Amino acid sequence: MIKLRFVHSLLFFTAICFFLPKIAARGGHSDYIQPGDGNASFHGTARHLFAQEEKRPSVELTRGYMTNADLEKAMKDFTKRCSKISRLYKGFLERAFSIGKSVNGFALWVIEISDKPGEIEAEPAFKYIGNVHGDEPVGRELLLRLANWICDNYEKDPLAKLIVENVHLHILPSLNPDGFSVRRRNNANNVDLNRDFPDQFFPINEDLSLRQPETTAIMNWLREIRFTASATLHGGALVANFPWDGTEDKRKYYYGCPDDQTFRFLARLYSKSHRNMSFSIEFEDGITNGASWYPIYGGMQDWNYIHGGCFELTLEISDNKWPRASELPTIWEYNRKSMLNLVASLVKTGVHGRIFSLDQGKPLPGLVMVKGINYTVKAHQAYADYHRLLEPGKIYEVTASSPGYKPKTTCVWLGENAVTADFILIPEASYGGKLLRSSCDCSYGQPLLLTRFFTETNNGITFALVVVVAFLFFLLQRRVRSNLWKQRQSSRRSTTV
Ligand SMILES: [Zn+2]
Repeated sequence: MIKLRFVHSLLFFTAICFFLPKIAARGGHSDYIQPGDGNASFHGTARHLFAQEEKRPSVELTRGYMTNADLEKAMKDFTKRCSKISRLYKGFLERAFSIGKSVNGFALWVIEISDKPGEIEAEPAFKYIGNVHGDEPVGRELLLRLANWICDNYEKDPLAKLIVENVHLHILPSLNPDGFSVRRRNNANNVDLNRDFPDQFFPINEDLSLRQPETTAIMNWLREIRFTASATLHGGALVANFPWDGTEDKRKYYYGCPDDQTFRFLARLYSKSHRNMSFSIEFEDGITNGASWYPIYGGMQDWNYIHGGCFELTLEISDNKWPRASELPTIWEYNRKSMLNLVASLVKTGVHGRIFSLDQGKPLPGLVMVKGINYTVKAHQAYADYHRLLEPGKIYEVTASSPGYKPKTTCVWLGENAVTADFILIPEASYGGKLLRSSCDCSYGQPLLLTRFFTETNNGITFALVVVVAFLFFLLQRRVRSNLWKQRQSSRRSTTV
């Protein structure tokens, strides 16, 4: 009976999908890399979770860390050494170069890693940001190590190759070089950059003239580049934090965003790939909802998800905010696989595809919605590619829409690997021929006929496929029943004997 139920579900699912656009498995078969053995002797010490002004680390502790000048040189050296797969840029709006600078005028340099750096491709983009808080310098060190590791390994390591060939990875090692230079959390105007974004509940950061240049730089960056996901690297705890970061009544409790399950999946992917993050006593599986830990307002994470279309995690990667530089190689090894796996998740999981118009075959930068999740993903303006991250192991009903076109829905079984689902949308007006008549009087007859023929043919094929599936189902059911009858007969015979 279990087999029969399975066959029922399989055929039912197949029949549904015959009505819907074609989907296909996508991505490699290799699993995410597992946590390594690393040096288990590393343990963080001091824990500093909150935003209050703290005692600054001693100058002696800065030994072995890159200064701002060292960091700039390291980034320039990197892009020279790895020029085939990278570029260096600053100023997120080409028209306004000064935007990409800190209060004290440090350029906010970014490394882009891709097989076609600087070009627009139908691929997802990921960004890593370090050193949001000036006194949390581990992230900026790890991000340079990440870039160099990818450069050294992308021709031999499958995961590094996958990232270079299929993702545009943008790395901003230091958002707060001014704070770093004086070993202080806030920027040069003494503002916490992770409290300076427009907030969804409390409009405390709406005054554009008061917004910090570093914050403005990030906001403009997201207007220029469509990021699918991102992470900021912090210190002071060991946990992967996900939205929401705040609650409407300022009280502390679990407050999930519409994509809570997907965020939990991404956060867990990071913590489970980490050497010891998931063994946390304080945080189950090494992950936490921001609001259930301690609510904050004006944070970068929620703003990215709401306004940037970008799934952002806040990663606390070291219990000790400013450990001795001698511990950096160990912390890097502990985080390396997590950092790679998180970027690779953009192509190894989720639903991806492009949206086209039926009438002209052109890319349509439409919208993608998933039933039951109140969140919209936009397809890219140039290629109309979309990248919808979702928790694996479920069936999703995905709808693509664009103004003037009839929305189209497909069902997707999202397993271990990513799925491709392209959409071809039919102009709404083409049913009545209004659009074709008004747009081109001289030739509407022929295209109208072609459009109708295609639509009718498409329906005909779908109907024929459903009949075939129903017939196969009937045959299969008969065969299963016949086998069951034979088994019962033989068992009766054997008990009689
Ligand atoms: Zn921080």
